[in-house]
Amino acid sequence: MTDSSSDSQVNSKLNKLRSAYRSRLNEELERISEQAQEAHTHDDRGEALAKLRHRLHKLAGSAGTFGFHQLGNHARYLEQQVQRWINQSEPVKPQELEQLNKELSDLARHLGSDEAMSSAVGVESTEQSADSNSPAIALIERDSILADYIAHQLESFGFRVQSYQDPHELLNNDQGGMDLLLLDHRAGASEVAATPTDHWKALLREVACPVIFMGGHEDFQVRLEAVRAGAEGYFVKPLNIPNVAAKITRSIRKRRQGEERVLIIDDDVDLLAYLDTVLTHAGMTVETLQDPSHLLDRTSSFQPELVLLDLHMPEVSGDELAAMLRQFEKWNNLPILYLTQEQDQQERAHALMRGGDDFINKPVGEEFLIKTCRNRVRRLRDMQQAIALDGLTGLLRHANIKDALETELQGAARSGNPLSVVMLDIDHFKHVNDTYGHALGDVVISTVGTLLTQHFRRSDRLGRYGGEEFVAVLPNCDANAAERLVNRLREAFAEIKFVDRETSFSCSLSAGIADTRNFPGLMGEQLLELADAALYTSKQNGRNCVSVAPAQ
Ligand code: GH3
Ligand code: MG
Ligand code: MG
Repeated sequence: MTDSSSDSQVNSKLNKLRSAYRSRLNEELERISEQAQEAHTHDDRGEALAKLRHRLHKLAGSAGTFGFHQLGNHARYLEQQVQRWINQSEPVKPQELEQLNKELSDLARHLGSDEAMSSAVGVESTEQSADSNSPAIALIERDSILADYIAHQLESFGFRVQSYQDPHELLNNDQGGMDLLLLDHRAGASEVAATPTDHWKALLREVACPVIFMGGHEDFQVRLEAVRAGAEGYFVKPLNIPNVAAKITRSIRKRRQGEERVLIIDDDVDLLAYLDTVLTHAGMTVETLQDPSHLLDRTSSFQPELVLLDLHMPEVSGDELAAMLRQFEKWNNLPILYLTQEQDQQERAHALMRGGDDFINKPVGEEFLIKTCRNRVRRLRDMQQAIALDGLTGLLRHANIKDALETELQGAARSGNPLSVVMLDIDHFKHVNDTYGHALGDVVISTVGTLLTQHFRRSDRLGRYGGEEFVAVLPNCDANAAERLVNRLREAFAEIKFVDRETSFSCSLSAGIADTRNFPGLMGEQLLELADAALYTSKQNGRNCVSVAPAQ
C-alpha cells in the first residue's frame, strides 16, 4: 500500500478543479455577506432571506464534496438558522442579523482551516479506463466544477460520463445509449421550486433508463419527491462516490437481467392466448399449458419465475397444483398467482393456504396483469440476490461462487473452451483497517467489487470469497488472456486514491490464475487451490502483481 498525502501525487485535473472551486468560493462568500446585508436593510426582508438561504444551501452541498467540510457544515447550520427565520411569524431582530453577519465571517475562517484537507470520502484516479462498452451515465449538475469532479471520479470506475447543464439540454440530445441518469434534483431550480414532483415527472417521462437523484439534504419530503418522480435512489452531497458507483452498478445490472419467465396454466384456450399475447408484448417470456398433467415437467424445463394458475379447471383445481408445486423444496419461493372469478372468501382463503400467494381477478385488465407479474418477478429476483449476493460488494457469496465454478466447468468441458479461475486478494489490507478504520476498509472492499463488475464480461462469474479475497471465473478465457485482463484491473485499482478527511492513500491487489488448458480435467476445488498457490507466489514476489499457475 502506498501512502501519499503529498499534493504532487494527487491527480492534477482534480487539483485544478478543486482550486477553481476554491477561487470561486471567495466570491461566493462575499456575495453571501452582501445578501445578508440586504436582509438587514431591505424592505422586503422575506425575499432577501429566501435568497440568502438558497445561497447557503448551495454552498453546503458543494463545499464538502471538494473537501471543505467545516465550511460545508457551518453553511448548513446557518441555512437552518435562516430557514427558521423564514418560517417564524415575528420579524427577525436586528441583533440576530448582526450575529449572523459575524457567523458569516467565520465561514471564511473555516475556509482557511479546511484548506489543508483533501476531499470527502471518495476516489481519485489518473486512469480513465472507460471504453465504448462501458455503461454510459448522463450527469445533470448545475455547478459545472462539481459536475466535472463527479464525472472524473465516476470515470475512474470505468463509467462513461456525459455532463449536461439541465434536463432540457439532455432531452434535446439523443439518449439512445444512456444507461443511467444521475441528476441534481434542484437542477433548473426556479422551475422546480413550486412543484418539484410534477416538474420531474413531466420531464423524466421520456427517460427510459434508471434515474438516481442527488441533493443537498435528506428528509422525508425530498425522498418522497424522488420516489414520485420515479427515481431509484437518492444520494446526499457531499457524495460518497464509491457508494454511488456501487448503486449505479446494481441499478444497471438489474436492468440487464432479461425477460421475466411466466408459466400460465388454464383450460380456456382463448384466455391463454390473450394472456400470452399481453405478457409477451410487454417483453416477458411466456409458456402456456392447457393440460395440467404436464405441470412438473414444464416447471422443471422452463424454470418459470412466476406461475399463473386458473383456480377452477375441470379435472384438477389450481390450488391442488399449487400444493403439488409446494411439495418441492426448490419451488417453495416460486410466486404463484391464481386466476379466478371466485369471490367466496372461504374458498379464497383455502386456496391461499394451499400455497398460492394471491389472486388476479377475471376479467383481467391488461395493465394490472403486466404490472402484477413484473412486480412479483422483481421481488423474487431481489430476494434471490439478497440470498446469493454479498451485501457489501454485490458479488456472489463464497458457496455460490464455488457452485458457479462447478457449473461453468461443466459448460467448459462440453464446449472444449478454456476456463480460467482467478483468485484476488487486497495487499496489506489489515493495515488499511488499522490506519483508516473499518468503515473506510469496507469502502475499499466495495470498490474492488464495483471494479470487478465493470472490468469483466457479463458471462463471467464473480464472487467475494472471504474478507478481502475475491474469485473470478472466466469462461472462454485462457490464462494468458486472463492475465492481461487482471493486470488491467490491478492497474486501475492501484490508480484509485481513497480519501480520508486528512489524507489520501491507495491500495494494491495481488492475483493468481489457473486455467483448464494447463490443468485439464480438474475439479473446481483443485483449480481454486492452484489459483491460491499462484496468488501466494504473487505475494512472495512483492505483491501488486499477477501470477499464473505453471503447467506441470
Ligand atoms: P496480505 O497482503 O498478505 O494479503 O496482507 P493482509 O493484511 O491483506 O491480509 P490478512 O489476511 O492478514 O488481513 C486481512 C484483514 O481483512 C483482516 C480482517 O480483519 C480484514 N477484514 C476481513 N473482512 C473484512 C470486512 O468485511 N471489512 C473490513 N473492513 N475488513 C475486513
Ligand atoms: Mg490481503
Ligand atoms: Mg487475505
